[in-house]
Amino acid sequence: MPDRETLEALFRQHGYTDFTWIDPKKIVVAHWVRMKCRFGCDEYGRTATCPPNVPSVEECREFFNDYSEAAVFHFAKSVENPEDRHDWTLSISRKLLELEREVFISGHRKAFLLFMDSCHLCPECAGTKADCRNPEGARPTPEAMGVDVFGTARQYGLPIEVLGDYSDTMNRYAFLLVE
Ligand code: SF4
Repeated sequence: MPDRETLEALFRQHGYTDFTWIDPKKIVVAHWVRMKCRFGCDEYGRTATCPPNVPSVEECREFFNDYSEAAVFHFAKSVENPEDRHDWTLSISRKLLELEREVFISGHRKAFLLFMDSCHLCPECAGTKADCRNPEGARPTPEAMGVDVFGTARQYGLPIEVLGDYSDTMNRYAFLLVE
């Protein structure tokens, strides 16, 4: 089991205080999430970290079973222009990658981050894993891994609602899996 106290000190050093420990085995993984990617999302097949460039739903379930702990980091924001959300999430994803690395170096060899938004490390995604321009930094989202983020967050009383307008406050979650 990871040493929560040490990890939490590391999280706080990086400025993160809004996080919740969850049991990875309780992460809700469902086929309907993959179906939403496949039909209805314009990023399907266009980014190296989105379906179909990710494991099957069954493999994703097994992946989460490999872990004993996950820290879920909560971020909330409203934006005037919907496209502004990517700049916001990108700056957070970059910082969380640094945190993931420090968690790894602190002895947690299985540390693995799931971005809260699709990978925008490059201005334009190469589209396939083979062509990815930053394979060391690219990470999928929970949704790309078949995670029902709503169902998972609600199990722990975390705020999350379907929004009718981008100007409403978004509640977004990045997952850091550790062992
Ligand atoms: S690092 Fe660049 S090429 Fe790779 S998935 Fe992310 S945006 Fe796409």
